[in-house]
Amino acid sequence: MTPPGLVTRAPRFSAADAVRFATEIYGLSLDAEPLPSERDQNFLLRDASGPQFVLKIANRDEAPAVLDLQNRLLEFLAQCDIGLAFPRLLPTRSGRETASVTDGRGSAYLVRLLTWVEGVCLATAPSQTPELLRSLGTSLAKLDHALAGFRHPAAERVLHWDLRQAAMAWPHRDLLPEPRRRMIQTFVDAWRALDWNQLPAGVIWNDANDYNVLVDPAGSRVVSFLDFGDAVATAVVCDLAIALAYAMLDKQDPIAAAAQVVAGYHEARPLGEAETDALYTLAAARLATSVCFAANQARQAPYNAYLNISNAPAWALLERLAAFPPDWPREVFRRTCGFSHGARTAASLADSRRRSLGPSLSLSYSQPLHIIRGWRQNLYDASGRVYLDCVNNVAHVGHCHPRVTEAAARQMALLNTNTRYLHEHLAEYAERLTATLPAPLRVAFLVSSGSEANELALRLARAHTKGDRVLVLDAAYHGNTSALVDISPYKFNGPGGRGKPPHVEVMPLPDVYRGLYRGPDAATRYAAHVADAARQTAGLAAFFCEPAPGCGGQVILPPGYLAESFAAVRAAGGVCVADEVQTGFGRAGSHFWMFETQGVVPDIVTMGKPIANGHPMGAVVTTPEIAASFANGMEYFNTFGGNPVSCAAALAVLDVVRDEGLQENARVTGGYLLAGLRDLAARHAVIGDARGCGLFLGVELVRDRDTREPAGAEASRLADRMKDLGVLVSTDGPGHNVIKLKPPLVFSRPDADLLLKRFETALAAW
Ligand code: PMP
Repeated sequence: MTPPGLVTRAPRFSAADAVRFATEIYGLSLDAEPLPSERDQNFLLRDASGPQFVLKIANRDEAPAVLDLQNRLLEFLAQCDIGLAFPRLLPTRSGRETASVTDGRGSAYLVRLLTWVEGVCLATAPSQTPELLRSLGTSLAKLDHALAGFRHPAAERVLHWDLRQAAMAWPHRDLLPEPRRRMIQTFVDAWRALDWNQLPAGVIWNDANDYNVLVDPAGSRVVSFLDFGDAVATAVVCDLAIALAYAMLDKQDPIAAAAQVVAGYHEARPLGEAETDALYTLAAARLATSVCFAANQARQAPYNAYLNISNAPAWALLERLAAFPPDWPREVFRRTCGFSHGARTAASLADSRRRSLGPSLSLSYSQPLHIIRGWRQNLYDASGRVYLDCVNNVAHVGHCHPRVTEAAARQMALLNTNTRYLHEHLAEYAERLTATLPAPLRVAFLVSSGSEANELALRLARAHTKGDRVLVLDAAYHGNTSALVDISPYKFNGPGGRGKPPHVEVMPLPDVYRGLYRGPDAATRYAAHVADAARQTAGLAAFFCEPAPGCGGQVILPPGYLAESFAAVRAAGGVCVADEVQTGFGRAGSHFWMFETQGVVPDIVTMGKPIANGHPMGAVVTTPEIAASFANGMEYFNTFGGNPVSCAAALAVLDVVRDEGLQENARVTGGYLLAGLRDLAARHAVIGDARGCGLFLGVELVRDRDTREPAGAEASRLADRMKDLGVLVSTDGPGHNVIKLKPPLVFSRPDADLLLKRFETALAAW
């Protein structure tokens, strides 16, 4: 239990009393003004030239031995040359360290006088720069190093603020409403798993809260630590953990801020590995104990505003921390302290890439990211920054979804082999995948990537039609093989491309914002190009089409386009291939497959990216007739395609999409986001168009709304700016001017709000 008297038995003297004590006890004639305190009473004593002293009136229940601990500590620190100023204790007129005063009810309290230390509270410093946070760590490390030489019997006390005694706080979590109570429980569980024997012990300050840390007026370095009332002998690392708890408050990237403090600390007093690993748990435990005690104290002393000072920010921070994968902050701290085996700096990795990987592989962003963890819709970097991932449609059900991870890991430990044996996973997956598609799409081929899927689709189409020629949409990308580069205008017309091969015809991109036709008859007019080409193409094999073109710029096809085009292609003897590599598995929201939004049934559907949530896999589903045409004696064997591990992961993806209602989430959240983007477009002329279907959206930037001149360079600058604000988006489209949004389907309404808010900020600085 928190000793209740410490709060309810705090002294309640007036400023006038303080003025009187200063005169009577210390012979000083000064004005007094109350300062905040949890359980004591502090008065600032000042004269015309400014603050001079702090008069401290101790809680009635404070043991004299503890006051002596504080006094000896101040005396000790006054002699330590660690670049910090500490308050000094001044004697009474009669030369004593403490004096006694009584209140109106005859209760006695002990009074002390300390020198005033100049400085600005860290909490109110203009900004907590990385340098300032490092300075906090370094100063604290120097303090802890110095305190290694300090002993006092009263330090061996049981104190409710000692993190080793955090169990005193936990019963109060029962005062909290759900879901807060459950959230606190996870931090309690982590705290319970700590091994205190691994953590070096000593006397610590135990109160590095941001009102007790003073910085210079420029806000560049720490100059003083105040208030040693919580000093205690415990694990030394608790001092740093407490500093981290407060340094993380109100930060966009709390772990990055904490890592700066840790780096500064580690430089001056190297942390051990066990200390480093305990840090995050202890920092979170400090916040958890604070809110638990606050819940209890709010019942007992509702008038004491100081008790609730960091309550709302503490809750906000705890909620953020609860969303982080707990291994990530620990890993960031391990890297900061050099304990992460094999960890390398971003610069070293970029250099290695230049030397050891093919140079045709580019990196995203002008300052590349070094991501070390993914969880749900977020990515986490090595420096402690969190990013909302709005582009990775591969992590379909959320990065590292436990059901997918577990299914794949379990199967990996049992068997992974090719598909020349019977296996339940293969059978079940083929059955369940084909069941998501309309008849007659009933035959599946399992492969290892989107490219392999399209490559196979091309072969199927050619085998079935005996034709060779292909119609494709302008700006399309279908994969990285030679045959697919040949049917990808995005590649053959792009840098290094060799232009359109003779067997390929490029159809205008049915883009109703920027394309050839924009009116109500656009679908028919675009489809007429397909019909003409189909008619004029002898030996037509296939029409390849993404049902919502991605590289083309997140284009939403006009209603009716695929129906008319498919009819014309079939009439000319070709087959229709829907490339659902980007768009499938519920992303469309209203439908499981994007082609369904056009009311058509393709002859071949290709799939990849999201199919196994990042495990390399692809699939082709076609009709029994086309599959039969392909079975001409030449076997199709794919070493990795359909292996039991891939199938286990892919089955888990289907389960999660169903069980977590992710298609419906794509519909609802996607609709909400699109409305928000359109609202943004109404206020920012640079947004020429916002469009989308489910969680497949595009924001097209233009230099001029009338000419629709693509704002390509601006789009990549915006993406960079968004990255700095913690949101990952990318650009696409022939003019590279479309901000592409296709987040994991666990993307939530608060995520949409955050994305919109960051867009607003980035655009405001346009
Ligand atoms: N088709 C489309 C529409 C794609 O977006 C991609 C990948 N960007 C592919 C095919 C090729 O898939 P993969 O990279 O898995 O080979």
